[in-house]
Amino acid sequence: MSYNRVTPEVIEELKSIVGAEHVSDKPAVLAAYLSRSIMGIEAVKPDVVVRPKYVEEVRKVLMLANEYRIPVTPMAGGLSGGFALPLIKPAGILLDLSRMNRILKVDPDARYMVVEPGVRNGPLWAYFRKNYPEYAPPIPDGAPPAATVVGDALERGFTIVTNKAGPAADLVLGLEVVLPTGEVVRTGSWALPGAQPFYKWGLGPDFTGIFLGAQGTMGVVTKLAVKIFPHSEHKDILAFGFENPQDMIKATMMVLKQEVGVMVQGGNWWLVPTRLAEENPKLADYQYWAKLGVPLWFMNFELWGRDEEDLEYQRRVVRREMEKAAQAGIKVREWKLHPRQKKSRLKKPNKIAIPYAKWRGAFLFITWYTPWMEAGDFAEICVKKMEEYGFPPVFWVASIEHGREAICMPIVCYDPTSPDEIERLREFNRDTTEMFIERGWINYRPDPYVHAPLMYSRATAYYSMLKKLKKVFDPNGIMHPGRLCLP
Ligand SMILES: Cc1cc2nc3c(=O)[nH]c(=O)nc-3n(C[C@H](O)[C@H](O)[C@H](O)COP(=O)(O)OP(=O)(O)OC[C@H]3O[C@@H](n4cnc5c(N)ncnc54)[C@H](O)[C@@H]3O)c2cc1C
Repeated sequence: MSYNRVTPEVIEELKSIVGAEHVSDKPAVLAAYLSRSIMGIEAVKPDVVVRPKYVEEVRKVLMLANEYRIPVTPMAGGLSGGFALPLIKPAGILLDLSRMNRILKVDPDARYMVVEPGVRNGPLWAYFRKNYPEYAPPIPDGAPPAATVVGDALERGFTIVTNKAGPAADLVLGLEVVLPTGEVVRTGSWALPGAQPFYKWGLGPDFTGIFLGAQGTMGVVTKLAVKIFPHSEHKDILAFGFENPQDMIKATMMVLKQEVGVMVQGGNWWLVPTRLAEENPKLADYQYWAKLGVPLWFMNFELWGRDEEDLEYQRRVVRREMEKAAQAGIKVREWKLHPRQKKSRLKKPNKIAIPYAKWRGAFLFITWYTPWMEAGDFAEICVKKMEEYGFPPVFWVASIEHGREAICMPIVCYDPTSPDEIERLREFNRDTTEMFIERGWINYRPDPYVHAPLMYSRATAYYSMLKKLKKVFDPNGIMHPGRLCLP
């Protein structure tokens, strides 16, 4: 597919749509949007950044780009790229939607909210604490306050209630989407003019899913209707330590089957030191951490009770199942967390994941979905491979919908100034992706150079249908071209 560059004439037209102050092709501004970390290390600068405020502006920009065949990449918070979005060749227009930042509706009876893509997690959480303290918006668990619920839902990410309610995409009740053709469509019951977004399966066969996990390749989402959840003032975190990942996964499954806990997540001891700077060699020695009580492998159970009695019941369930696991021969011990450790985890949005950049300067999340019971094997392979490629073997895992699935993540801490480390990181990604796809494990956010080609070269029937559907929504292939091996 060939594309056209953004010419000075196009820039003038863009200015006439959104206002001159909201269009920039200044080199410093473009460079500020370039980021190579978090979810992908390949990225290029956009040709121009355009910041619309209204749906009609988005529609006009897309129609213009469609007419001139200029690529468009939508961005909500941009945190999937660290501090900007990994835009890939052939660049084009970066549609920064951060000015579309209205909370349009909160319905505490039907329990959903309607938000625009630029509504960031920090202000959204503060808005709920002030105006709807009994409810919690489904913000991503570890993403920084500047990320958004729209970005996370479109990424199918994991939220503060993922153990209870499933991935962020499961919470979506309806979308408003602008297509490059200029059409504006709503999905779910919202598709019927005058109807509220209360029923996600809508008016018959539902196509909301085509926009979830699409990485901006199908259209621009301008409104999201998404479920909200009861927020508890009665919270606690229990943690348990294990000697290996298989024991951790098996014992945790026993608790997960009891269906308690909003967020259940853990990993290995490497999660602790890599949030500090790699200055002192003792930090990379487990014996140092063992003396401080940090287990080799551990699982945290975040519990929200309706009241203290309910919270105490949930604590009893978790401890009872762990005791049963011990009786079945699993080596498990409760890890008593310091109140400060509990406080930092219970804070929302928490900032727990940000410091991984301290260890070597940058980090990459390579995230996979597996059946829960296979997550132990996944962890074992990952740790071995990370050591083989010379990276600290930092591994994190969380439960989705009470262990129906696991989200597994090697966190690769690397030196972004070292071409050798970047090359080894690419090799690690390729090597493990080949193995994991063979095992039937699925990438959370397939990157365009390794995950998507390897995955779709196997799933040929699915990929062929996906390409046909892409043509329907984006006939000229201008939306985030190259992502997902589309168009
Ligand atoms: C330190 C750190 C911790 C993180 N922890 C978590 C976590 O706990 N849980 C989690 O799930 N994720 C996590 N992430 C990943 C990511 O930040 C989140 O998924 C985030 O919510 C994405 O939202 P965003 O607004 O930043 O999306 P963006 O990066 O702006 O966009 C995500 C994708 O959706 C597309 N897109 C954005 N807006 C639109 C739109 N309006 N229409 C169509 N397509 C669109 C983009 O093109 C892109 O491909 C973390 C990231 C960081 C940096």
